[in-house]
Amino acid sequence: MGGWAIAVHGGAGVDPNLPMERQEQAKQLLTRCLNLGISALRSDLAAIDVVELVVRELETDPFFNSGRGSALTAKGTVEMEASIMDGPKRRCGAVSGLTTVKNPVSLARLVMDKSPHSYLAFSGAEDFARQQGVELVDNEYFITEENVGMLKLAKEANTILFDYRIPLGSESCSAGVESPLHMNGLPISVYAPETVGCVVVDNQGRCAAATSTGGLMNKMTGRIGDSPLIGAGTYACDLCGVSCTGEGEAIIR
Ligand code: ASP
Repeated sequence: MGGWAIAVHGGAGVDPNLPMERQEQAKQLLTRCLNLGISALRSDLAAIDVVELVVRELETDPFFNSGRGSALTAKGTVEMEASIMDGPKRRCGAVSGLTTVKNPVSLARLVMDKSPHSYLAFSGAEDFARQQGVELVDNEYFITEENVGMLKLAKEANTILFDYRIPLGSESCSAGVESPLHMNGLPISVYAPETVGCVVVDNQGRCAAATSTGGLMNKMTGRIGDSPLIGAGTYACDLCGVSCTGEGEAIIR
């Protein structure tokens, strides 16, 4: 074999209306994470370890919608989800409804490696996290001031938001009121998801993929999107790796 490849994403597309400063921040963070993955691949780390490493880094930074900085539920809480898949062996792990796990992707990895199951959710997943001794933090750790503001806007407009584009207090921030897009009867304001993911093929030709998200802003509590669903948001086999971003309900369909 020989030759590796890596792709990192922080949601689909860059909104041209996003302030330059924020676009720069996004680029810098993605570049840093990409470089982290590249050095790991050059040091012969396996694809599955590289995707976990890169997604952990993205979860730890509050910029994107995963881990710290996750989108909030309609109740103002965080319910994070993530999944990971090891292509050659078709092994996978997924988690949903996490409220205290600092790095959901690593819990997904533990579900794959250390549990008899593929997918754990809500209190069972949190119990498993405690049992495995992963780092836990208060729910407040994940909640950023910006996301509290976005949730307020989303609620005022009775919409589900995909991103952070609408400037707080802006006149033009109709927050979806005039949007032609609808999801299950609710208007969607704008479409530029900021879920994170990484796909890798290492120099032995092994593919892996991982995805992590807070889901959609103002989502119902208990809502599960595509990101933790193997075969929807994440997939890897001996031929390819996939990490999706976009409207979870549509991706699942
Ligand atoms: N796919 C994610 C979800 O529906 C959202 C995103 O990609 O930003 O939860």
